[in-house]
Amino acid sequence: MNRPKFPWGDGRRYHANSKRIKEKYGGRIQKVSINAGFTCPNRDGTKGRGGCIYCNNQSFTPSYCVDVEDITGQIDKGVEFLDKRYKNPLFYAAYFQSYSNTYKPLEELKSIYSSALKHEKISGIVVSTRPDCIDDNILDYFELLSKDYYVSLEYGIESCYDRTLEWINRGHLFEDTKKAIQMTSDRGLEVTGHLLFGLPGESREEMLNQANIVSGLPLNAIKLHHLQIMKNTKLARLYRETPEKFTLFSMEEYIDFVIRFMEKLDPGIAIERLVSEAPPLHRVNPGWGNKRADWVQKKIESVMEEKDTWQGKQFKKSQKFL
Ligand code: SF4
Repeated sequence: MNRPKFPWGDGRRYHANSKRIKEKYGGRIQKVSINAGFTCPNRDGTKGRGGCIYCNNQSFTPSYCVDVEDITGQIDKGVEFLDKRYKNPLFYAAYFQSYSNTYKPLEELKSIYSSALKHEKISGIVVSTRPDCIDDNILDYFELLSKDYYVSLEYGIESCYDRTLEWINRGHLFEDTKKAIQMTSDRGLEVTGHLLFGLPGESREEMLNQANIVSGLPLNAIKLHHLQIMKNTKLARLYRETPEKFTLFSMEEYIDFVIRFMEKLDPGIAIERLVSEAPPLHRVNPGWGNKRADWVQKKIESVMEEKDTWQGKQFKKSQKFL
């Protein structure tokens, strides 16, 4: 059977970020998660207390980051763990994943990133942060680093709607997100955004409309997540007290939704993740049985085949949503 070829050059139904990275850099980049002891401005009182209402960092911190204090030790442990699981990466990049990894004075940041880049196995950094924790000086430093190393920034967009951002206690506006992504892209740095679907107060149509909105941003890649309710969060308390306010996606509903989202998304934005992954141990809501994220991803792709649809099928470049 002759498989169709899509704008990203293969027959896969969406533009996979793994393919984009392979083509751009010549191979797979393996991230090694680092916990470098950051916090967030909506936790320490600068912009608020308690953090985002859904946030439980433990739920996505790999076991090799726990109980190891220094960055070199975390990288050693992480590389040893990942070497057994995944073969032949092009190189490793230190993934500053927990909390807001640009939320310290610049000189401290330089020392933290340098200690990772000094490690013999590390050739780049991936820095996850909030859009309001970035400025010209930090980005100038990243631009300089990017002449010798792989440098990628990940921003939590979460929602394009200010009323949602306020409700989840983000402490910044969507305007901050647009600005940070633009400033990062203007320097030629890799930039990825995260979106979270299923937050109470947003209709499915509003969630879907975010495909049009983020298509107007200069993103290289995007990570899509469905809401899961983590233990020890304010969201878990609200879920127990007012379950009627939550309309969490069933797996079938989410598959249908995320396909419709991708149909509207600019095919130039690669997709790094289609679904959340959180250990049941940390979760309050029942989830989707024992279905793993990679199983759900394959299911999404097979439904796209059945429906003969693909990322960007309904994308209209001329439309301006920002
Ligand atoms: S900004 Fe990120 S790490 Fe900080 S509280 Fe919000 S979700 Fe958690």
